[in-house]
Amino acid sequence: MTKTLYLKVTDPQKDRETIRRAARLLQEGALVAFPTETVYGLGANALDRQAVEAIYAAKGRPLDNPMIVHIAALKELGRVCRTVSPLARTLADRFWPGPLTLVLPAGNAILSVVTGGLATVAVRIPDHPVALALLQEAGVPVAAPSANRSGRPSPTRAEHVLEDLEGQIAALVDGGPCPVGVESTVLDMSGPVPRILRPGGVSLEALREVLPEVMPPRDGPLLRGETPASPGMKYRHYAPRAPLYLLEGKEQAVRRELIRLCRRYRLQGLKVGLLTAAPFEAVDGSLALDLGGRKDPGAAASLLFAALRQMDAAGVEVILAEGIPEEGLGLAVMNRLRKAAGENILLCD
Ligand code: AMP
Ligand code: MG
Repeated sequence: MTKTLYLKVTDPQKDRETIRRAARLLQEGALVAFPTETVYGLGANALDRQAVEAIYAAKGRPLDNPMIVHIAALKELGRVCRTVSPLARTLADRFWPGPLTLVLPAGNAILSVVTGGLATVAVRIPDHPVALALLQEAGVPVAAPSANRSGRPSPTRAEHVLEDLEGQIAALVDGGPCPVGVESTVLDMSGPVPRILRPGGVSLEALREVLPEVMPPRDGPLLRGETPASPGMKYRHYAPRAPLYLLEGKEQAVRRELIRLCRRYRLQGLKVGLLTAAPFEAVDGSLALDLGGRKDPGAAASLLFAALRQMDAAGVEVILAEGIPEEGLGLAVMNRLRKAAGENILLCD
């Protein structure tokens, strides 16, 4: 157990000394959690093997699940990657800083503990003033997966990081809630046509504007003998403690099934949590949180992980979630909900 230093940063300019303190910890090989526009990251100097190994230990993360390397500016890309194709350069120019991670050929300095032994490395420039100030001040590439215990919903607020990792990490930089709320889009640039490995903060539609041929993510279970292109894809993820049932299909059929199942579980005496796609009057005794995803998938993205944690905190015993259309950030939201549901996906009509 270490005492986790809590560092509040409201304005990276005014709070320069605090940023310096966090950056020094990173340089010394310690673990520092920090806000990005997507979720809180658990950062370590990507060039320091022991520091990166400590991330896996703190998170309980499987060793073959590689991490995203965060850099402060385009000029640092050469420290991380062997080559950068003209197309990768175009995407970086268009979407960085921002929630797009590019999987590129790994440079010599990149440790296999960061890449999970792959020949490629995942890299991005985050679009968050606190993250950028910290990365600039640290002056090293920073490996950072989400700052949660492995398998738990990702942290979108500083208190979520403390819930999972207090006493396990040197410091937490609190920069307020993360605006996007789901992780970055991971784009594999190693094949002839770029392919989305994980949908995230940059939508498929936005990518298609620059890259019409981009391959959409392949959801669903792996076939027997198939290796996942992205190692992280094979793990259950983002899961609250209570089992989550995801209801997919037409809006009205989904709502009918939600009400029917809610009543049934209530009769069994269970505390039910509802994650709805549009406003809903809670069935007596249930906890209903409206993510508003039908009207605004971006709002659902920013609320999703906090809502899953709120369900746990309220002692909910079963969660029923309404699916939303897979448009814009809806694709990322549905990907996270399906992962959280595991096998519990019900098609309603
Ligand atoms: P996280 O750090 O928790 O946001 O997850 C990072 C995601 O990027 C995981 O799904 C990883 O499996 C994936 N990833 C990281 N590096 C690579 C890589 N070199 N090739 C393919 N996927 C990667
Ligand atoms: Mg994660």
